[in-house]
Amino acid sequence: MIRIEAHAKVNVFLRVLRAREDGYHDLASLVLPISLADIVTVQPARELRVDVRGRRAEDVPPGGLNLALIAALALAEASTGGMGATIEIEKSIPVAAGLGGGSADAAATLVALNELWECALDAGALADIGARVGSDLPALLAGGPVLVGGRGERVEPAKVERLWWAVVTLDFPTRSPDAYRWWDEDGGNTGPSPWSILDAAERGDAETLGPLLYNDLERSVVRRHPEVGEALQALTQAGALGAVMSGSGPTVLGLARDEAHANEIADGFEGSIVAHGPP
Ligand code: ATP
Repeated sequence: MIRIEAHAKVNVFLRVLRAREDGYHDLASLVLPISLADIVTVQPARELRVDVRGRRAEDVPPGGLNLALIAALALAEASTGGMGATIEIEKSIPVAAGLGGGSADAAATLVALNELWECALDAGALADIGARVGSDLPALLAGGPVLVGGRGERVEPAKVERLWWAVVTLDFPTRSPDAYRWWDEDGGNTGPSPWSILDAAERGDAETLGPLLYNDLERSVVRRHPEVGEALQALTQAGALGAVMSGSGPTVLGLARDEAHANEIADGFEGSIVAHGPP
């Protein structure tokens, strides 16, 4: 049995550069894994199956193919070792929330099955398979903060000192394709060059980083879902150093000075989560 923590991610900044011919968008983002995680366990079995348990299991729509299963099938196809396995996911990451939960499960599944099936694929080969499963996988396979380019397949390690966040989830999902389509429809604004953000993140300077956080998808999501804008404002009023939407939303993040400050902010938001990244 192999057990791996599948960490959620937040986007410290997310810059959308352009729509591509293939329907994807080129982007630049600082992707930061955080302490919030699902637990993925794999065991040998005759057939391949996925079981989702835990307090957020019901939020994973039944019927659709689980991303962990898609990842397992892709690994089986790419290697000679592929066989059966039971993949159990203990679900804690909010679903369709912009926290990359499905991709995190899929990335953890690739790593765990590579070991269980003795595929002996190196990190580069796993990332190639991951990129075919989902745009967020190469970043989440890296296992630490990364600067992401292309549609997500270009990944380079970044240095980030521990940052504390109040993670405020909203009770409706947003689909990534919708968020990018809205960005197109609204004329495609692109945020500033991220160098000052990277510098502040590397130093763990939350005071400087707070006002710099941005996400190019945010404005278009806020237009369609005013609750997101309200939550961002409420975070600022609650004393967050900065507030930004994560990924394609609707989760919003409040940056805190430290753990106590993050708890203080989170106290005002029902069901919010305090997390730090890197884990
Ligand atoms: P993105 O990576 O696009 O930002 P997200 O974090 O917003 O994604 P996920 O939690 O990954 O959203 O879920 C997106 C959709 O993927 C869900 O609505 C669900 O239908 C499907 N899905 C497939 N496998 C999983 C999984 N293991 N966990 C959660 N969702 C899954």
